Amino acid sequence: MTRPVRARIDLQALQQNLHQVRVSAPHSKVMAVVKANGYGHGLVAVAEALLEADGFGVARLEEALALRQAGIRKPVTLLEGFTNAAELETVLGHDFEVVLHSEYQLALLEAARLPVPLRVWVKLDTGMHRLGFLPACLAEIARRLEALPLVRQPLAYLSHLACADERANPVSEVQHRCFEDALQGRPGERSLANSAGLLGWPAARYDWVRPGIMLYGVSPFQDALGPELGLRPAMTLETRLIAIRELCRGDAIGYGGSWVCPEDMRVGVAAIGYGDGYPRHAAAGTPVLLRGSRVPLVGRVSMDMITLDLRGHEDVQIGDRVVLWGEGLPVEEVAAAADTIGYELLTGITGRVQLEYD
Ligand SMILES: *Cc1c(COP(=O)(O)O)cnc(C)c1O
Repeated sequence: MTRPVRARIDLQALQQNLHQVRVSAPHSKVMAVVKANGYGHGLVAVAEALLEADGFGVARLEEALALRQAGIRKPVTLLEGFTNAAELETVLGHDFEVVLHSEYQLALLEAARLPVPLRVWVKLDTGMHRLGFLPACLAEIARRLEALPLVRQPLAYLSHLACADERANPVSEVQHRCFEDALQGRPGERSLANSAGLLGWPAARYDWVRPGIMLYGVSPFQDALGPELGLRPAMTLETRLIAIRELCRGDAIGYGGSWVCPEDMRVGVAAIGYGDGYPRHAAAGTPVLLRGSRVPLVGRVSMDMITLDLRGHEDVQIGDRVVLWGEGLPVEEVAAAADTIGYELLTGITGRVQLEYD
């Protein structure tokens, strides 16, 4: 038997979520973020479903090339830019846009003889302290870029929010002010907001929004689920029940025997595990959907299997469909039970999970 694990990707849900982005940020262009293999959903299939976006954002040159090879001509932005002269040459050969965040990248640009125009997004560090130029350096950086004939003018500017997933966190407003002050009087397009920023901070929308997680139907906020924000999960991860056991009170289940049956009971075994990307840290009680009803995980997650408490579900049968997350069970809930975030679960499904498109 081939393993029954698959991730069904609802392309219409992706389009509907893009529509929600448009409704939330009606005056902004949309750079759909499709890095990490389209957050696990399949890079090219996602981009083709989201061709109505104004452009795409990726983290790696390979991803940008795959979009061009698929015939996608929309703007593609490398969110971390290039790291050496060879990468810069590839960027120029394929008309990618780049984020410029460091002095070494600017030096590479100055050393190159640009054969074609290049659009540069200057990244400002407004308080996240990961990538970007400090506002105090901006005037000098801009002057050097403006001296390069083939760098498109006016320059474009972006920054990234560190705490927008917490709606009440004052850091977003501090970053917004910093961005605003640093760019005072400069022409050129601006972009500040990821999903949480565009939903939670109207002032952060600017010319371009950069949604990732919300396109996939998942909430960027700690205190909300995707469906509560009008989003539809695009990925449903599913498998099947491969065994049903009648166990006795006191029987310990799985590795380490960490979960012990409190009474005589039925336990189901489903064919999915951490080898597929299901989180090993999912705690006992993590919900899965069996025939549409929630049943709790019991025992440790193995590489290829999980065990389920079937008490109260006498009608289930071997072969029944088991949904790990997606439609009817937001990945955010599973993530909370595994002490992580939906982003990690979606991007963490492994190569042995079949992606199927509806
Ligand atoms: C990943 C990323 C995004 C998208 O963030 P979400 O929280 O998934 O919406 C936006 N901008 C940059 C620079 C990113 O790296």
